Amino acid sequence: MEFNKAQNIIGLRVLNDNVIWLWKRNKKVVVIDPAISEPVINYLCENNLHLEAILQTHHHNDHIGGTEELIKKWPKVKVIASKKEKDRIPFQNLSVADGDKLNILGQGVQIIEVLGHTRSHISFYLSNDENPVLFIGDTLFSGGCGRIFEGTYEQMYDSLERIKLLPRNTLIYCAHEYTRSNLLWALNLKPEDQDIKNKLLQVEKEISLKRLTIPFQLDEEMKINLFLRARNLKEFTDLRANKDLWS
Ligand SMILES: [Zn+2]
Repeated sequence: MEFNKAQNIIGLRVLNDNVIWLWKRNKKVVVIDPAISEPVINYLCENNLHLEAILQTHHHNDHIGGTEELIKKWPKVKVIASKKEKDRIPFQNLSVADGDKLNILGQGVQIIEVLGHTRSHISFYLSNDENPVLFIGDTLFSGGCGRIFEGTYEQMYDSLERIKLLPRNTLIYCAHEYTRSNLLWALNLKPEDQDIKNKLLQVEKEISLKRLTIPFQLDEEMKINLFLRARNLKEFTDLRANKDLWS
């Protein structure tokens, strides 16, 4: 378990490299992409907390694997997912689409569709805080972006362009701890890049202290993420193809 920079959002590290985010307000909790249920149930029970909602960015098993067990424990929980995924996320009970605005834990949350990794991937943007927050699932990672499984290169490029329009101080919470490996790939391509070198040093320090390297802030990420730096679709496509061969 790990307490992160924004004091009301906690990351639980599970499986190989997944992170389940718990967004807390008073005694209520919203969980994002529960890969498995047990550590979530344990944390909530130990701290006498109630599960209010589950946010699902997409249908992959390492994002929805714990959801059914959580519903058994908290039968009234809201399960929020893309309405395009009623087949693959069948337990959803609040179906959403791009541009929808919800109120969760008293906070405005906007649905931003970010296609590419899957054909219906969504993200959850919390706009009203002093620090805007984006739960981005598997679309953007620190130093990298999601693999294109069902969408097109163009869709993924457009998704990253949408993210770049958000306020520069947005804190981004992704679902995997891939940062170090992504930075090693980037440095292999750009060995003289001082921003990426500095970021790797910082990340290695965090890792040695057993801390998560996420969330990350959009403005800083735009300096070190080659996919966000790509000036056009061609450049992005070449980078993504290169990364697919790397790992
Ligand atoms: Zn995925």
